[in-house]
Amino acid sequence: MAENRQLTTTAGAPIPDNQNSITAGPRGPLLIQDYQLIEKLAHQNRERIPERVVHAKGWGAYGTLTITNDISNYTRALIFSEVGKKTDLIARFSTVAGELGAADHERDVRGFALKFYTDEGNWDMVGNNTPVFFLRDPYKFPDFIHTQKRHPKTNLRSPTAMWDYWSLSPESLHQVTILMSDRGLPISPMHMNGYGSHTYSLWNDSGERVWVKFHFKTLQGHEFYTNEEGARIVGKTREGYQEALFGAIENGEFPQWRMFIQVMPEKEAENQPFNPFDLTKVWPHKDFPLIEVGIMELNKNPENYFAELEQVAFSPSNIVPGIGFSPDKVLQSRIFSYADAHRYRLGTHYEALPVNRPRCPVNHYHKDGLMNFFGQSTGSVDAYYEPNSFNGPQEDHSFLEPPLKIDGDAARYDRHDGNDNYTQPRALHDLMTLEQQQRLYSNTAASMVGVPKDIIERALGHYTKISPDYSDGIRSALKQL
Ligand code: NDP
Repeated sequence: MAENRQLTTTAGAPIPDNQNSITAGPRGPLLIQDYQLIEKLAHQNRERIPERVVHAKGWGAYGTLTITNDISNYTRALIFSEVGKKTDLIARFSTVAGELGAADHERDVRGFALKFYTDEGNWDMVGNNTPVFFLRDPYKFPDFIHTQKRHPKTNLRSPTAMWDYWSLSPESLHQVTILMSDRGLPISPMHMNGYGSHTYSLWNDSGERVWVKFHFKTLQGHEFYTNEEGARIVGKTREGYQEALFGAIENGEFPQWRMFIQVMPEKEAENQPFNPFDLTKVWPHKDFPLIEVGIMELNKNPENYFAELEQVAFSPSNIVPGIGFSPDKVLQSRIFSYADAHRYRLGTHYEALPVNRPRCPVNHYHKDGLMNFFGQSTGSVDAYYEPNSFNGPQEDHSFLEPPLKIDGDAARYDRHDGNDNYTQPRALHDLMTLEQQQRLYSNTAASMVGVPKDIIERALGHYTKISPDYSDGIRSALKQL
């Protein structure tokens, strides 16, 4: 039998009555001395924290990554140290544009964020279900996101803003092609791939660095809804992803993904026909084949949605020895902006929350601050600065990563210089079957409803450069609307 628990105040005192307030007589009024009533109402007023500006609506679970192939020649990261090694993780999937109450089955890019609790600290891979993104320069991120959110006057989403921006920023059309393809509306988080999207690096014990891309391929198969099917589902439930993922895990049907990497030797980055650090580009598989790494499985639902999925804080700044950054400008900006978003949303010590806390020892000299509940972890009250003579935690040069080679003149480089916005979307368009292409055209046309003609024409001009078949296809789909 469940233990009978005494209801208490937050200060631990027993609560004698949780149904009736203290009043002067049965008809009221209230007395201000009924502090527990005030406490209840005040707590309720503070139940919400700022929702994420992007990726507000999410679903997730705990699981493991099990290594199936040895890649320790590329990296000293302990997570990859031996075949059979298992590391715990939490995953959170999300839509990008919708708010916390948005419907799950909307056409959008999906976030694919993973936090691996490794033996040498947390590694966060904060990716998407697409291998590229809409931009290659972080200067454009806030403007791009504004076009996905609500119009300041109508408070409605604005297809005009989206297409105005995309048609003025043709580097976005690779990602727009994926968004408007079947993969823009997966039936559940279990039926889509995940990608690190950025170029990162791996480095090994000999101090050698290679550039790397991370891929997680669904073992459930790709499944998608058409716009019409999506609309029908949303008419029945706005929570289809939560129901599917939570339900599968409760039923013991644990979704899996196969993890792969692509590797590019440092030197080869100089000789590619494309910029390997450009977030709007993939690395072609034939030149950079997928190397298997392991199997990711999700097998445990969170106990408390808010504590675990609303407060889980992923940041590309969380890397571990053996994994490194790259010159990718957008990655470099996210190293700052994600951790900053968490400091704002969750507070200074967000990394100490149970869901974010590393499973290995954490010893640092950051002091005080709001909600510091963990005191000092330096082993001595006198070790509250560094260096010190009181056996406080110390740096360890054996973890120094090899230098990241950088040269060049500091300047603002035009984001289009030396960049080809059309070849890779063409490769994607051309690998689709005729039926997939038809759906791509009609989804693209449907998203243009209400957009002024000159903006549509500007967009079609770019599509013609990708492929005349592509622009012709959209044109005829527009006529059928
Ligand atoms: P490949 O033929 O070797 O690979 C094609 C890739 O496209 C596969 O990974 C496949 O994923 C994926 N794919 C198939 N349909 C879609 C879709 N509707 N939306 C997004 N991805 C899809 O060719 P390349 O490596 O030369 O790449 C050609 C084009 O494929 C690229 O320009 C890019 O647009 C796209 N692509 C490439 C990826 C890469 O890392 N090279 C990754 C994803 C897409 P799967 O195997 O899981 O079915």
